Amino acid sequence: MSNQRVVITGGAGFLGSHLTETLLARGDEVIVLDNFITGNPDNLAQLPQERLTIIKQDVTTFLAIDGQVDIVFHFASPASPIDYLRYPIQTLKVGSLGTHNALGVAKAKGARFVLASTSEVYGDPLIHPQPEDYWGHVNPVGPRGVYDEAKRFAEAMAMAYHRTHGVETRIVRIFNTYGPRMRLHDGRVVPAFISQALKGEPLTVFGDGRQTRSFCYVSDLIDGILRLAASDHVGPVNIGNPDEFTILELAQIVSELAGIPLRIEHSDLPVDDPKQRQPDIRRARALLGWEPKVPLREGLSRTLDWFSKVV
Ligand code: UDP
Repeated sequence: MSNQRVVITGGAGFLGSHLTETLLARGDEVIVLDNFITGNPDNLAQLPQERLTIIKQDVTTFLAIDGQVDIVFHFASPASPIDYLRYPIQTLKVGSLGTHNALGVAKAKGARFVLASTSEVYGDPLIHPQPEDYWGHVNPVGPRGVYDEAKRFAEAMAMAYHRTHGVETRIVRIFNTYGPRMRLHDGRVVPAFISQALKGEPLTVFGDGRQTRSFCYVSDLIDGILRLAASDHVGPVNIGNPDEFTILELAQIVSELAGIPLRIEHSDLPVDDPKQRQPDIRRARALLGWEPKVPLREGLSRTLDWFSKVV
């Protein structure tokens, strides 16, 4: 599929801008909607502009798009723990009202709808690794609940539009992803460790550092999302890298790649911080023939190169 007309909410964010770049490169026309509270127009400034339209808009308000639309990617949302703690109401609104509006565009235009969902729908999981048919272990009233429940609502809304209105919906459950264009201060562990290492500061490990995450390089993630968008599968699909590391292991690897001795400063584990996380990607393998290709050390060294130019 190419030469399509695509709407991307949150197109100026980390993932949205990589998606925009890949779609422009394959010949699509892209309309980005973003209010820039966590996205950054600089993420789009280096891309070819001929087939790119950028509209500054909060997608929780009515979306008017002229002309035909083939796909709506709904990627707008604060997505790092400190962002959704800073913007709790916007996070709930963009996952609920924003998803409703984006689905409304898809329905009106007869477009496909791709929802950026999250591994956070599994909460602090009791099943490991997490398959798509696990319903999760989420605290609705904790500080992370604003993000987790907004995304769970968004998934339910997408399925309701599929069942009621026949909208072709796709749900991608995105696990921890990293790469160039992450914000230095978005609080997530990879940009935090990389910027600390580049500045010669100790790495801030929350808790004892034995909690785990599984990190996917951004190009692998975008490949998985585009395969899912082109597939026939309506229900959720995990996209992430199943190689699992403790946060202490990550700190060790980042220090080695940055060529500095490991120095750690421990602080409290955030409330409801999941103790373990690893995607079960059997569904993505079987349905999409997708497999992540970039190992952690390689992706981190590419990310370090990029950050070393901006720190
Ligand atoms: N973390 C850490 N130090 C940091 C930032 C994060 O130890 O400076 C930990 C955090 O507590 C969590 C893991 O790293 O256990 C991943 O956190 P992140 O904010 O990247 O994303 P999450 O997977 O929690 O959404």
